[in-house]
Amino acid sequence: MMPDYVICLECESPVYIFEWKDGVVSEAHCALCGNEDPSQFITESDYEEMSMDDRFRPDS
Ligand SMILES: [Zn+2]
Repeated sequence: MMPDYVICLECESPVYIFEWKDGVVSEAHCALCGNEDPSQFITESDYEEMSMDDRFRPDS
């Protein structure tokens, strides 16, 4: 199912204009930071899973 929006991994903002194909983002463009690499956008549920996973936390 296509999500309402995807999240830009560069600046962590929601992006509402994107192309969705076969369960993944095929095209997206973040107006805020200029990111347009489809692999750098994820769905909200993937984002929540990722932020709960310690391995993906930035070094601190
Ligand atoms: Zn961005």
